[in-house]
Amino acid sequence: MPGFRFRRGLVAILALALIASAASAVWFISLETGKSRALAALDDELHVLARTVEGVIERFRYLPAVIARDRRILDVLASPEPATIERANAYLEAVRTDSGADELYVMKLDGLAVAASNHAEPTSFVGENYQYRPYFTDALARGEGRYYAVGATTGIPGYFLSSVIRDNSRVVGVAIVKVDMRKIEATWTDARSIVAVTDADGVVFLTGHAPWKYRPLQALSEETLFDLARTRKYGSADLAAANPIFSDAGRLPETALVDGEDARRLVLQVGIDPDGWRLLGLASLAPIRANSLLLALLTALAGLLIAGAGLYMRQRRQLTRARLHAHAELERRVVERTAELNRQVEDRRRAEAELRQAQESLIQAAKLAALGRMSAAIVHEVSQPLAAMENTLASTGLLASRGDAAAVADKVRSARDLVRRIQRTVKLLKSFARNEPVRLEPVDVDKAMAVAVELAAARATEQGAQVKLRKSSSPPSVLANTTRLEQVILNLVVNALDAVKERPEGEVELWSEHDGQRVRLFVRDNGIGIPEHLRDRIAEPEPFFTTKLTGEGLGLGLSISRAILDEFGGGMNFETREEGGCTFRIDLPVISENRLREAAE
Ligand code: ADP
Repeated sequence: MPGFRFRRGLVAILALALIASAASAVWFISLETGKSRALAALDDELHVLARTVEGVIERFRYLPAVIARDRRILDVLASPEPATIERANAYLEAVRTDSGADELYVMKLDGLAVAASNHAEPTSFVGENYQYRPYFTDALARGEGRYYAVGATTGIPGYFLSSVIRDNSRVVGVAIVKVDMRKIEATWTDARSIVAVTDADGVVFLTGHAPWKYRPLQALSEETLFDLARTRKYGSADLAAANPIFSDAGRLPETALVDGEDARRLVLQVGIDPDGWRLLGLASLAPIRANSLLLALLTALAGLLIAGAGLYMRQRRQLTRARLHAHAELERRVVERTAELNRQVEDRRRAEAELRQAQESLIQAAKLAALGRMSAAIVHEVSQPLAAMENTLASTGLLASRGDAAAVADKVRSARDLVRRIQRTVKLLKSFARNEPVRLEPVDVDKAMAVAVELAAARATEQGAQVKLRKSSSPPSVLANTTRLEQVILNLVVNALDAVKERPEGEVELWSEHDGQRVRLFVRDNGIGIPEHLRDRIAEPEPFFTTKLTGEGLGLGLSISRAILDEFGGGMNFETREEGGCTFRIDLPVISENRLREAAE
């Protein structure tokens, strides 16, 4: 048992380890796939945005060169007088309205703005000097310039596109178009990903994420800081004091924490030509992580469920096996017990048979003993009629020699009566001594009583007595022998008729009672009754005891009846009645399975 428990513990630990590794594998794989998917999506997004930024600038790329050719511009640069200035201003204003550019203006070679589209506004560029701006110097040096900066006058950041102005191949000034890029920025405020554009120095100048505005990605060199201050590129923004966005110097990290956030973001950048700008995108890792975690948890859950189901099935199998085993064990024990019971029943049957055999032998012995005791009485019973017959036959011979036929006939009749008496005695004795087993069968007690009453009817009528059979109680059948039971009842009825012989209103009544276990038959008479001193001899019937006149009774009826009832498992007794007469009762057990089986055997 401890070994089994140890093995079960080991299996559980292995299953848990397997589930944990499967969950970690799912977590790792889904995290990696999530990351690469997010990176691909971010890359796509950044490329689209980079094209948008480039497209906005591209729209205005040729505009400075176009206005540089206009006569009104050349005029104002040639002679900056109020009339030429006014015309140039009007032209620039009109072009601004038509093109959608932020501002357009023209600078002389000394850097002074002579005409501008915002000439009428308080932040007018006219009269301002922007000589320090690289777009001015670049235009003079290379014919065109492009530069992103915060407006020195307006404070509004914008992209400056410049073109040199030539009048008959002589350089006379610079034309500038300022493009407002804040409109692009306004669409980048989506919280899921941070988008920022940095210049070639790595300073963020366009972003939807306000805290990053005008902050370098990494710490700037002294030289760069100086340059930025000189060109006033980002106006009043103090880049020297601004914290770098990423602490790692040199290169961009793959993932980064953004100020105040608690989840890392994926970092990706694409270049925007031609100013060396970079478009930076940061996508949150939180949903990818949450997704991976969820998948890992689901895997673990599925693993646990499968393990649980496996365990459940296993336990069920074990339970079924145990039940089958218990069932088989039970069946085996039932078979054993049945065999044991059969053995016991067999033993008992054998014992009962032996007992019955012994009882029968005893009865037979008792009968033989009784016969011994009775021999004297038998001698008397038989020798007395024999002696009488001898006398009768002697006198018959005498009468015959005299030729008195009538007297002879009379004597012969007497002799026959004597012979019959001897025959009756012998017959009764034969039946008493017989030991052949009677055939037992279910007997209807009511019917047996009716037959006995019928047989006794002639005798009753003859002596003027009444034999009544009381209404039946429909007792259940008893196991007996019909003829013998009828004989027993008839014997009781005849005894009763004998007892009422001297009574003027002799009456014999028969009925039956039963209680489920036993059936009782009653034969009651209002005859002479049985005197006290004779009761014992009649109750334990003494063979050949009779109170009747010689020849009327042999005194064997009750003894034979008792022996017959013994064979049926029944009995007999009597009670005397105060008002005269007595009641004989036969007692028989109700038929039962056991007795039926025994009878069959
Ligand atoms: P038997 O009828 O030949 O005398 P039984 O054995 O039948 O032999 O009866 C024995 C004796 O029991 C009878 O002689 C009688 O004295 C007495 N006896 C039996 N039945 C009755 C009865 N119903 N009333 C009075 N005496 C009875």
